[in-house]
Amino acid sequence: MISEEERKKYVEFMYNPENEYNCDECPENKDFDDWEGKYPCGQQNCWVTCHCREIME
Ligand SMILES: [Zn+2]
Repeated sequence: MISEEERKKYVEFMYNPENEYNCDECPENKDFDDWEGKYPCGQQNCWVTCHCREIME
């Protein structure tokens, strides 16, 4: 469960192209320690990129 406030921050982050490859700050990586040195966001495509592409097409 996330609060409305958190959800809003999440959406704001994801749909801001300026956050592209700012994966360290990505809410998806919050509380994420280490997965072979990779992040859940920033694997193949940055999730921010995916979200922004979604609204441009
Ligand atoms: Zn990212």
